Amino acid sequence: MNDFSLTYESFDPAGEGLREALTSTGNGYLCARGAAEWEDANAVHYPGTYVHGVYNRETTILGGLPVLNEDLVNLPNWLVLKLRIEGEDAIRLAEVELLDYHHELDIRRATIIRQLRFRDKAGRETTLRSRRFVSMADVHHAGVQWTLTPENWSGRVEVVSAIDGRVTNRGVARYGELEGRHIDPVGPRTFGPEVIGLKVETRQSNLYVSQAARTRVLDGGRPLPVERSLHQMEDYIQQVLVFEVRQGSAARVEKMVAFFTSRDPATSDTLARAGTSALRYVDFEEALARHVSAWEELWRQCDVRVMGPSRVQLLLRLHICHVLQVCSRNTADLDAGVPARGLNGEAYRGHVFWDELYVYPFLNLRLPEVTRELLMYRYRRLGEAQAAAREAGLRGAMFPWQSGSEGKEETQQVHLNPLSGRWEPDLSRNQRHVGAAIFYNIWHYFRATGDLAFLDDRGAEMMLEIARFWASIAQFNRARERYEIHGVMGPDEFHEKYPGAAAGGLRNNAYTNVMVAWLCEIARQVLSLLPASRADALRRQLALDDDELQRWEDISRRMFVPFHDDGIISQFEGYEQLEELDWEAYRERYGNIQRLDRILRAEGKDPNRYKVSKQADVVMLFFLLSPHELRGVFERLGYDYGPDTAPKNIAYYDRRTSHGSTLSFVTHAGVLAPLDPESSWQRFLVAIESDVADVQGGTTQEGIHMGVMSGTLDLVQRSYAGTHMRDGILCFDPHLPKDLDGLSFSMKFQGTPVRVALTQGLLTVTAHPEGVSRPIRVAVGDDVRELCPGDQGRFQLQHETSAELQQAHG
Ligand code: BGC
Repeated sequence: MNDFSLTYESFDPAGEGLREALTSTGNGYLCARGAAEWEDANAVHYPGTYVHGVYNRETTILGGLPVLNEDLVNLPNWLVLKLRIEGEDAIRLAEVELLDYHHELDIRRATIIRQLRFRDKAGRETTLRSRRFVSMADVHHAGVQWTLTPENWSGRVEVVSAIDGRVTNRGVARYGELEGRHIDPVGPRTFGPEVIGLKVETRQSNLYVSQAARTRVLDGGRPLPVERSLHQMEDYIQQVLVFEVRQGSAARVEKMVAFFTSRDPATSDTLARAGTSALRYVDFEEALARHVSAWEELWRQCDVRVMGPSRVQLLLRLHICHVLQVCSRNTADLDAGVPARGLNGEAYRGHVFWDELYVYPFLNLRLPEVTRELLMYRYRRLGEAQAAAREAGLRGAMFPWQSGSEGKEETQQVHLNPLSGRWEPDLSRNQRHVGAAIFYNIWHYFRATGDLAFLDDRGAEMMLEIARFWASIAQFNRARERYEIHGVMGPDEFHEKYPGAAAGGLRNNAYTNVMVAWLCEIARQVLSLLPASRADALRRQLALDDDELQRWEDISRRMFVPFHDDGIISQFEGYEQLEELDWEAYRERYGNIQRLDRILRAEGKDPNRYKVSKQADVVMLFFLLSPHELRGVFERLGYDYGPDTAPKNIAYYDRRTSHGSTLSFVTHAGVLAPLDPESSWQRFLVAIESDVADVQGGTTQEGIHMGVMSGTLDLVQRSYAGTHMRDGILCFDPHLPKDLDGLSFSMKFQGTPVRVALTQGLLTVTAHPEGVSRPIRVAVGDDVRELCPGDQGRFQLQHETSAELQQAHG
């Protein structure tokens, strides 16, 4: 198996949506689904294109009530290339006899390839090979190349090359009742004989988006003179290129496309800019070579190799490719966040959730400059988060659960249960823990990079405002002599409120409370890391006095954490009173019960009543904080943290989790790595198949899951190589699964490039003399070594028994 290639060898209409999402191509600025150029949007095909940050709000009247939604906008379809032979209808997959079919994402070159040999109704056999990329090297460019070979005929063909602005957002069936029109036409234009362009404007956010395409027919390297005709409407422009083809001889068609939006730097009129850019654009082969060389550099920095099943290798690379197609250096100037579903579909409307928590660990240690800019997306929305806190009668910054253009709360008020067909209230906005995730992300970016300048300029301010928010929402319970947090929910979306309660939110979600205790302590440390003058200035700017800092300290020591039954951390207060579910009966009745919430609701039951979790909640704590850190937090709080705390709690919740979010498999695989390696590996295998095998039965066609894709990469680094950072030291605590003979990857720790190679028994860490490399400290257990650039540290590893592993984890 070629572990750089995702391939399909037959056409499957039912699976095409999934394949389009999985073979999307992008460059961190825009992504286009892997739809065939010649197909229009219909029940099988959906040629969507999305650019970071191009959102639009529309109101839908649902049941008489206005519902406002902000969507990442599906942009005009620039892919369109249609083939007409001898004046007949354009070729479509459903209407020809396919003799051969090959659809591939060439992962190494981030190029989508389709090759088909077909017989049309007149018996003509033709081979059409299409290659397409969105340039990683030239952020505004993409290219399509067709090679067309008539196998048993010669004659006249017409190639229709268009930019189609008559598109709407209708990629997600569930959202079908919601307004999907987001763009208004501005107009078409031509730039000389070869270039067509189209400009549209988003209806509410008034963003201009323009695309221009230069289409040529080539013979060898030279453009052939062809007959061209033009047709344009306000929202559509096409050119028809007419030329003769000869039996057995390949003709090449190239469509080179440029994209600009009014959000782009250095841009005045987007249409003129796109037109000029398309005119100046080099030919396909040269552009592709530049793109491939940009990817070579990315693979050098980001590849993760495993010595083991080749499918695992393939899927890790698929994930790397998709993560980088959504978040790359090209994302830097875009004021973009990480949409949970990438730029590959319309699920969750392109919103930004907390999933970046799973994405940054991979980027932090490879392309930290990208994380930094993604964190700036949050910084630019700090004002909105502060306003949201004020409006809720709180202080500091309350970041939204779902974020879009402005950082307002974009979570919808109602959502459709596809099983029951009913619109149900959506209380998920109470997931205030997103703020703790942002705090964690800034801190971990800093730990990986040592980028004090960012902390100084932006990071610390956000962290302090987040800590302040938590300190203001926390209330002191005199009877308990502890701080409590009410009215929020944890990551588990099956529990939004107490059964029968009118209001949303729960009391004392353990995950939230522990994270708050942790961050209140870190926030104080952050101030001491800044130069004294900057710390003073920031405190003055935020009016942060000693009393408030004292309160944070107090919270870090006296936050309440609910427990029940012999050391089990209660997911929230009162959890123990919920009913147990008969899991076996549900598995038997429904097979896949990942979305138990939908199943229960369709049965007229409220998931809030049961001890069922959609995803890791308490378990998140063991994933995000190292055993050392977590023990520190618990001890500071005056709670026991014994050797069995982790295994006991993980086992308890593992039995009660349906993994209705793909993030959950990542988390459970991660925490089980040191405790139950075999079980961890099984979860890893599910996580790694999540998107490619669409384990949730239909969600991936609506967009890849950025969290699980990056999360699986992070598992190799965080859990199997055991990479973590402590006191400025790069530490490893390897737990190589027995199914792998070894793994290796490159990363960058505090500016120094490092190569890590792990086999059963030996860990090798090499520091490279490159760029700003400096000596770094690397450790396995108590064995701490300083590596100067050029040095290699070889650590012999001892095999531990499972009991010892559990002990160590405690
Ligand atoms: C999960 C959330 C996640 C969101 C976006 C939901 O299904 O429960 O944790 O942030 O999807 O990926």
